[in-house]
Amino acid sequence: MAEKFNLTPFREEHEIFRQQCRKFVDKELAPQAMEWEKNKDFPDEVFRRVGEMGLHGILVPEEYGGSGGDYLMAAVWVEEATRIGSGGVMAGIGMHGLIVLPAVARFGNEEQKKRFLVPGVSGEKIGALGLTEPVAGSDLARIRTTAKRERDDYLLNGSKTFITNGSRADFVLVLCKTGPEAGYQGFSTLIVERGMPGFSQGRPLEKLGWHAGDTAELVFENVAVPAENRLGEEGRGFYNAMANLEWERLIMALGVVYGAQLAFDKTKTYIMQREAFGRPIGKFQVNRHKMVDMAMEIEAARQLCYFALKKLMNGEPCAVEVSLAKVFASRMGEFVATTCLQLHGGYGYMREYEIERFFRDVRINAIGGGTSEILKEMVGRLMGL
Ligand SMILES: Cc1cc2nc3c(=O)[nH]c(=O)nc-3n(C[C@H](O)[C@H](O)[C@H](O)COP(=O)(O)OP(=O)(O)OC[C@H]3O[C@@H](n4cnc5c(N)ncnc54)[C@H](O)[C@@H]3O)c2cc1C
Repeated sequence: MAEKFNLTPFREEHEIFRQQCRKFVDKELAPQAMEWEKNKDFPDEVFRRVGEMGLHGILVPEEYGGSGGDYLMAAVWVEEATRIGSGGVMAGIGMHGLIVLPAVARFGNEEQKKRFLVPGVSGEKIGALGLTEPVAGSDLARIRTTAKRERDDYLLNGSKTFITNGSRADFVLVLCKTGPEAGYQGFSTLIVERGMPGFSQGRPLEKLGWHAGDTAELVFENVAVPAENRLGEEGRGFYNAMANLEWERLIMALGVVYGAQLAFDKTKTYIMQREAFGRPIGKFQVNRHKMVDMAMEIEAARQLCYFALKKLMNGEPCAVEVSLAKVFASRMGEFVATTCLQLHGGYGYMREYEIERFFRDVRINAIGGGTSEILKEMVGRLMGL
């Protein structure tokens, strides 16, 4: 439907890339999604295969194995990856290739880029981002993980929770306090690697949705992290963590919109086939109106996302636009999920119909990467309220 409004930011080259992504996802990933969801896990091999397809490196410069693409190319991959049909798999891949690797590319030194980007782009090494702690998520300045400089190392102590790829990660970008008295200038980011003595990675946590995804706790007990593993300058960790947030939030919003569209399309087919009282259930006015309501909300969310994406692409300030897109898309996604489920009747409640999975997976969008309340707070303040 976006074509009708003709506001899509994508050009011909993006649409060609879209077809490549779609073919790969539909052929190699989507057919296994249901099994991965059931197993509550997916193989590391998926990261390597996505790497072989060049999809971890879209936002990584060519000299480190990437394609040096831009946010528009990356947005195409986000949309098409949604077709996997498993929020957990999509989150794992997206966290690694679209959030962690670009952060290393942006803030890392030459040595770090060689060590983490090259194997990261190929999918040999998997990355995670550790911000949230048991005591602090929205209010990140309250984190308690500390790193004390001792000669050539930082001695890291503390814990993280809800970390995507936490169990399987080969390296984690850990936000910690290096100057507890220095306010926002007292944070740094350390790259903590699997196997460092004192670093433990928990088993995946049981969740409402994202079943195939690995969301885990991390514990640091006197981990001696070499100073050469500090990402970016000491004292810049908080600002660096915030620097990528707009893109991270937009990834989530774009994913919800595309996921909602898939649920809508599936439901449209279903209600024109399923009959009750002598006609397809889609021919009842009440259901027709439900479909129109959903189409309207999906399109509105999509255009908010594309508007924010264009601003991000142009390097313009877009905190408000991205926040509005994420808050609106999250709410729209929940509305579409529950409406599609209702239109499927009892089958909507069944696992095999996939609407049930979208219904569970979509709920995270109002929480992860900044809750809807926090984003509204920020927008409200920027509005001078
Ligand atoms: C599946 C999953 C994957 C995740 N992956 C990662 C990851 O890879 N890395 C990572 O670092 N984190 C990750 N997170 C953590 C996520 O970013 C946090 O859960 C989120 O930021 C909210 O923090 P919190 O859970 O501590 O909630 P809290 O901050 O405790 O918030 C609880 C409630 O209070 C509300 N609230 C808080 N402050 C205000 C306020 N000022 N005004 C109004 N309401 C307020 C919130 O909106 C929320 O409704 C993940 C979480 C989940 C569930």
